[in-house]
Amino acid sequence: MSVKLTLLGLKVSRSLCRDHLFELVRRAEARGNFVRIDMEDHTCTTATLDLYREAVAASRTRAAVGGPTGSAASGDAVGVVLQAYLHRTLADVAALPERANVRLCKGIYVEPPSVAIQDYGKVRRNFLATLEALFDCGAYVGIATHDDYLLRESAAMIGRRGLAVDRYEFQMLLGVTEERRDRLARAGHRVRIYVPYGRQWYAYSTRRLRENPSIAGHVARAFFLRLMRGQTGADWGK
Ligand SMILES: Cc1cc2nc3c(=O)[nH]c(=O)nc-3n(C[C@H](O)[C@H](O)[C@H](O)COP(=O)(O)OP(=O)(O)OC[C@H]3O[C@@H](n4cnc5c(N)ncnc54)[C@H](O)[C@@H]3O)c2cc1C
Repeated sequence: MSVKLTLLGLKVSRSLCRDHLFELVRRAEARGNFVRIDMEDHTCTTATLDLYREAVAASRTRAAVGGPTGSAASGDAVGVVLQAYLHRTLADVAALPERANVRLCKGIYVEPPSVAIQDYGKVRRNFLATLEALFDCGAYVGIATHDDYLLRESAAMIGRRGLAVDRYEFQMLLGVTEERRDRLARAGHRVRIYVPYGRQWYAYSTRRLRENPSIAGHVARAFFLRLMRGQTGADWGK
């Protein structure tokens, strides 16, 4: 399950947000589940990483005094997200706890040049540099991108390093670039698909569009591509 800390009260009260997050992680541990803390705009980055570190520490303390065992124990039931477009991201990797679980993405919010790289090629380069740094420090990485170039380069890096499939996964959004997703899975990589879920899915989706209107272009292109394939009978209804 992925959650946004502002949804848990981050901008209302830090301690209220911490209580909600810790409770979610405790429940996830008890069920062998996992909580991913999404990363929001740059005004939330420091607080989000701090609360992630606190949640990992609390979870590891619980495990040390006889909490649940297995993959949900030892802080493994909670993970965070780093955004390749932020100038600070490589420094944030250096401050992660041991055996961190990190989703790496480009970053979706419209951010000023003072905090975020604006050049598409440079964001890609920082994505790959951050991925190397995450593997170097032993993190489990969720490689969250639909970018063909980054998918190819990430797979090549994994091959060069001879990484086992339990050190990483690819992550994509439901309905986006499905052929890339299927190609990765066929090649033996783990692929996780994200689905907006719940009664408020429409409000959630329109809020995402407001945060970065350029997504609307992707969605429209994907919709018409699907429609055209449907008209030629290729994969309509999948
Ligand atoms: C699983 C997952 C979790 C994420 N979590 C976060 C997060 O916590 N914080 C955050 O800031 N950002 C998050 N993002 C968004 C991410 O930061 C990027 O903004 C987004 O993935 C687009 O970048 P890209 O790497 O896919 O490459 P792009 O170059 O933007 O896209 C490559 C191609 O993918 C297709 N595409 C991409 N996005 C869409 C879309 N929405 N609809 C249809 N087609 C699309 C298009 O064909 C496009 O040409 C997440 C992304 C994924 C996949």
